[in-house]
Amino acid sequence: MSTVLEYDAIIVGAGGAGLYTALEASQKARTAVLTKLYPVRSHTGAAQGGIGAALGNVEEDRPEWHAFDTVKGGDYLSDQAAALVLAEEAVQAVYDLEHLGLPFSRTDDGKIDQRRFGGHTRNFGEAAVRRSCYAADRTGHMILQTLYQQCVKNSVDFHNEVQVLDVLLDGTRCLGLVAYDLASGELITLKARAVLFANGGVGRMFRITSNAYANTGDGQALLARRGIPLEDMEFFQFHPTGIRGMGILITEGVRGEGGILLNAAGDRFMETYSPTLKDLAPRDIVARAIVTEIQAGRGITGDGTVDDYVYLDASHLGRERIESKLPDIAEFVRTYLDIDPAEKPIPVQPTAHYAMGGIPTDLEGRVITDDRGTVVQGLYAAGECACVSVHGANRLGTNSLVDLVVFGRRAGRHLARYVAQADLPELPPGAAEPTAARIAGLKDGKSGPPPELLREQMQDVMTSKVGIYRNGPDMASAVEELKGLREAYRDVRCPDRSQAFNTSLLEVLELGHLLDNAYIAAVCALNREESRGAHAREDFPDRDDARWLKHTLARLEKDDVRIEYKPVDVSRWQPKPRKY
Ligand SMILES: Cc1cc2nc3c(=O)[nH]c(=O)nc-3n(C[C@H](O)[C@H](O)[C@H](O)COP(=O)(O)OP(=O)(O)OC[C@H]3O[C@@H](n4cnc5c(N)ncnc54)[C@H](O)[C@@H]3O)c2cc1C
Repeated sequence: MSTVLEYDAIIVGAGGAGLYTALEASQKARTAVLTKLYPVRSHTGAAQGGIGAALGNVEEDRPEWHAFDTVKGGDYLSDQAAALVLAEEAVQAVYDLEHLGLPFSRTDDGKIDQRRFGGHTRNFGEAAVRRSCYAADRTGHMILQTLYQQCVKNSVDFHNEVQVLDVLLDGTRCLGLVAYDLASGELITLKARAVLFANGGVGRMFRITSNAYANTGDGQALLARRGIPLEDMEFFQFHPTGIRGMGILITEGVRGEGGILLNAAGDRFMETYSPTLKDLAPRDIVARAIVTEIQAGRGITGDGTVDDYVYLDASHLGRERIESKLPDIAEFVRTYLDIDPAEKPIPVQPTAHYAMGGIPTDLEGRVITDDRGTVVQGLYAAGECACVSVHGANRLGTNSLVDLVVFGRRAGRHLARYVAQADLPELPPGAAEPTAARIAGLKDGKSGPPPELLREQMQDVMTSKVGIYRNGPDMASAVEELKGLREAYRDVRCPDRSQAFNTSLLEVLELGHLLDNAYIAAVCALNREESRGAHAREDFPDRDDARWLKHTLARLEKDDVRIEYKPVDVSRWQPKPRKY
């Protein structure tokens, strides 16, 4: 028998999205947060560069320009009503964070300071604009601390180190969840009027990534297994500047403060690829430029392999500016590379960073299941695991933190209204049994393929064949290899059979989630025969609006993925070629 708990609202995840939702929901409803990590260890805490909002504190700016940049940055796959909501509500959201206690960096006259970031421009693309609000290079950390304190103050019930392993749906409505308590090894069944997934990203399907170990796309996989389609999974962002070989992120804020990219000859190569925005072009363009330089033998080692790299030079900014605006970055570079960024350039290469796709939602965070916007009652999603879709084919820097607070808050408010009138569902008998049986199976003592080997193979396939540049034959072979890995996974056993603190068991389960995400992403990428935003195909180098101006909805059906489509909202700006 597993424990049964009841709440009005349950939020899965304690990152920026989960905490903002919980803060809103808890004003009116009995709210619990389930999180597999301690809240302040969520990946939001790693966000460095800032949160974009057209405050206009240091130069003229307008939400409409922000919305346009978001749509253009997303290569016109962003839903434009969503982009307008994002940009318009960002301004108040930042002031609300300030009033909740977030210690933003300030201008000399005491306003929230703002800096430049890739793809953010004034007057529809004229020149870079200062839009990113920041707290040194610890913006995410500050958001997390601020929201967590507010949630504690609001009596949100936190269940830490409790990992959701199943979601209970009855076709039209969400009933609850099944979760695993790491400390005791017991299952908990939870019943709720509404459930919101805010479980974050899935960068761990790649070998070199900026993402934390916990970013394994659990919610995406659990919902896909229960028949919910995933949207635009082919679009995965590679951030141009990860620490060489490690993937640890060097924020775009370094370029926002004036840092530049250099090749082996010491040339500032972004001047060629993006004459107007140069080093502050959107990430997909900069990441491809780096790979192109490397492949042309202009990387630092000149060997043209995936291990080759370029330089990010911030030395001309001076020690004082680096230490005050980018203290954590300076520390990372000293710790991991033994380099002082005030004296020497930083070796960087692109790193897998952000999932544009995920669980499809409407503007209120309700999960939708088809192209007509049919909602599942009582089921919500927000943050990186969700796809509203505001980032389209390529997210602009600083727009994820905005997404968390703007859409997290909207979802929280809607959810609070919904639970006020919804009744508590009945759970079917034995709701936790399938999960209990899976765990027992993993611990049955038989031997199987080593999970770490499957994980490495998956990461290598995704990095080499579904990476920055893609082509049909490579992706077709990736799909086959991932199919094979999913099959092999069925025989995997957990090497550790203990009851308490069995992290190994959870890693095995997370590998299953990663494999499902990777498989769906690879199938969607092979299916989309065009290049758009972060999806760059060598065999289809152009954007093809006639055939592909549409969102992908991918359904996992046992061993296959069925693809459907959803129209893109282009109600404000007609797609144009993207030039920077
Ligand atoms: C290094 C780095 C720097 C970044 N910098 C910026 C930036 O400057 N600006 C910007 O806009 N964006 C930035 N991003 C992106 C942005 O930080 C993330 O997209 C965002 O923080 C994700 O927030 P989230 O709330 O959706 O999820 P997360 O913060 O990742 O939190 C996920 C939560 O879900 C929980 N969870 C997951 N699975 C389960 C499960 N099965 N059961 C229970 N709980 C679960 C975890 O415990 C965690 O609490 C950065 C990302 C990285 C990796």
